[in-house]
Amino acid sequence: MKTLENLFKDELADMYDAERRIIKALPKLAKAATCPDLKEAFQVHLKQTEGHVKKLEKVFRSCGEKAKGKTCEATVGLLKEGDEIAAEFKGSPALNAALIAAAQKVEHYEIATYGCLHTWAKQLANEEAAGLLKDILDEEKDADTVLNALAFSYLNQAALGETNQASSNSAGQRPGNLRRGATVRSTASILMVR
Ligand code: ZN
Ligand code: FE
Ligand code: FE
Repeated sequence: MKTLENLFKDELADMYDAERRIIKALPKLAKAATCPDLKEAFQVHLKQTEGHVKKLEKVFRSCGEKAKGKTCEATVGLLKEGDEIAAEFKGSPALNAALIAAAQKVEHYEIATYGCLHTWAKQLANEEAAGLLKDILDEEKDADTVLNALAFSYLNQAALGETNQASSNSAGQRPGNLRRGATVRSTASILMVR
């Protein structure tokens, strides 16, 4: 008979695999992005994701287990779609919006899974694991908030079309670039909170 503890360890192994795939994907996303703020957001989340792997190893240890991964087919698929859309929209003003969408799909998957893992750790009375999983969950939510702020500020606007761009782009501004503004500063402050 499988138990909640089995399910917990199973999902833990799924995320251990997912996070290591995301570590390989984030530098590619950062390289593909043409918006400096988006590049930076990906680089910041890469550092956080490296921390997630370390934290997951501690969670495994808190259950008396060695860290092990089990192929996360969802992450494999989401990252593959991300690669495809990045290739399709290369050179397009909508590229950054496409990269944000791909990254948000991954973050939402992580948020859903870490939300479950955090709840289960509490139900299993593993307070150490619950604390570590809550820390990861919060960073995934922050990453999603930053991506939202970037998407809402200017990127999607830049993707609206040539006419819009020609009229709204002031000198020295590349298409798809993010203009510095209040939203960007609040994004930076979100990044600095943790
Ligand atoms: Zn993560
Ligand atoms: Fe998975
Ligand atoms: Fe993430």
